[in-house]
Amino acid sequence: MLNVPSQSFPGPSSQQRVASGGRSKVPLKQGRSLMDWIRLTKSGKDLTGLKGRLIEVTEEELKKHNKKDDCWICIRGFVYNVSPYMEYHPGGEDELMRAAGSDGTDLFDQVHRWVNYESMLKECLVGRMAMKPALPKGMLPQSQVTDTLAKESPSSPSYDWFQTDSLVTIVIYTKQKDINLDSVIVDHRDDSFRVETVIKDYSYLVHVALSHEIQEDFSVLVVENVGKIEIVLKKKENTSWKRLGHPKENHNSIIPKKDTGLFYRKCQLVSKEDVTHDTKLFCLMLPPSTHLQVPVGQHVYLKLPITGTEIVKPYTPVSDSLFSEFKEPVLPNNIYIYFLIKIYPAGFFTPELDHLQIGDYVSVSNPEGNFIISQLQELEDLFLLAAGTGFTPMVKVLNYALTNIPSLRKVKLMFFNKTEDDIIWRSQLEKLAFKDKRFEVEFVLSAPTSEWSGKQGYISPALLSEFLKRSSDTSKVLICLCGPTPFTEQGMKMLHDLNFSKDEIHSFTA
Ligand code: FAD
Ligand code: NAP
Repeated sequence: MLNVPSQSFPGPSSQQRVASGGRSKVPLKQGRSLMDWIRLTKSGKDLTGLKGRLIEVTEEELKKHNKKDDCWICIRGFVYNVSPYMEYHPGGEDELMRAAGSDGTDLFDQVHRWVNYESMLKECLVGRMAMKPALPKGMLPQSQVTDTLAKESPSSPSYDWFQTDSLVTIVIYTKQKDINLDSVIVDHRDDSFRVETVIKDYSYLVHVALSHEIQEDFSVLVVENVGKIEIVLKKKENTSWKRLGHPKENHNSIIPKKDTGLFYRKCQLVSKEDVTHDTKLFCLMLPPSTHLQVPVGQHVYLKLPITGTEIVKPYTPVSDSLFSEFKEPVLPNNIYIYFLIKIYPAGFFTPELDHLQIGDYVSVSNPEGNFIISQLQELEDLFLLAAGTGFTPMVKVLNYALTNIPSLRKVKLMFFNKTEDDIIWRSQLEKLAFKDKRFEVEFVLSAPTSEWSGKQGYISPALLSEFLKRSSDTSKVLICLCGPTPFTEQGMKMLHDLNFSKDEIHSFTA
């Protein structure tokens, strides 16, 4: 059972209190934590007022339930009675009431698309919309999808397939040049073969039930200059296939990325190593029937069932060390994903993660995030401002910039922590600074011991103006920020006040 302390909840530093993605969270009353909500949903209490019946809800009916003590909300065609949840909602009652008696799908997607509401609110399910206010996105007939999106979406991708005696090759023509192995996510599970190709802000799906069995492993090749993707499958039997398979949901359609649900696959925990007194390096192994590479600067969602409810939290993959990208040869289809995760003893998710044994499974989502690798192109000065585990997105950015950006003159990391013991990968950072003269690191501690002779305090205009020296007046600069939300927000304001432009700043948020 989780050890949730009884003092005011969420605690002053709780992730459940701090804002994410720019929205505010409100203090919840005592006894209204996520754990308390899960307990209530398991208590057998009738939370919908319908005694377990599911009904068809008309638009007129939905509209009537628009008060705090009688509040129904439709999300993706399903209607929930959220009144019992009001006091447990981390975003506050007013935020929920914005969607009262209406279709809250867009509002929900804007704020926390990744939250697993189906599981969290399953006891509040009233039923389906009889006449849906709008068809759930991604469920449009294909012709309609193509028509609606034709103006904004990338020129329509297409697919084809061909075979030899032993192989079947699926070819996707994206008609885009900036496609690479990160752009393609392939999952083969049971009878479903799903290829999601990320093309700018859209996803193109090839999703079929294959007509014949294939072997577990397959290869993915990308011809970057023409945007062609080839997925080579090995037949189990050398027979001729008459067709690739039956189309499944959203097959051969292009959908705005924000409207595709998060897709998860189960990954196995293969190792867990202490990095600091409270932070660990977790290594997860992708199933052999998945091709997934998390792009630099992006995060994924990890999902675990906690007391019967699926809980989802975001984490940013790192490399296994600061030097790993320099190792030869770099494997193109890496099956391992590494995470640096701080375990909060009174946290909700991380103690569960920490209790996993080697060989246990965690679900990992497709990547998300708004960092674009082209932000690093032709860069001369890269400044990284990280606090605590806000260091995690910096790892791959740092590795990528030092290895792939020839114009780069310097990379400086200012790393804020409480004490020396909290500094993640300190010796690696110092070693890197020694080996690569373009890289410098400065540690700033908020609660150092008396022996600490380095910088101390919090992010401040004085610290920043001293630290952020361009190598020339005209040098192309990028400043990346990540840490507790107030740290990032204060930092952003200070950088604007120091006259850095929006294009020169990237903050990592959910
Ligand atoms: P929470 O339950 O949210 O609790 C966190 C804090 O609140 C702890 O200090 C806890 O002691 C305190 N608290 C909780 N309950 C109480 C209570 N009842 N009373 C008093 N205090 C309480 N984190 C990483 O470690 N690595 C990453 O790579 C990473 N990447 C991220 C990427 C993104 C895009 C975002 C938005 C966040 C990322 N995080 C990362 C943070 C991560 O998502 C979680 O927020 C974090 O792991 C805490 O989760 P938790 O459920 O264990 O803690
Ligand atoms: P922490 O140890 O609590 O804090 C790290 C340092 O930042 C400490 O020196 C701390 O000082 C300081 N700090 C905290 N709040 C501050 C504020 N408001 N202003 C100035 N300085 C502040 O950090 P953590 O527990 O590792 O948490 C890291 C955070 O980063 C989490 O909130 C996590 O969600 C976030 N994160 C986000 C992403 C992303 O991509 N968005 C990725 C990874 C992590 P004191 O403790 O002494 O106050």
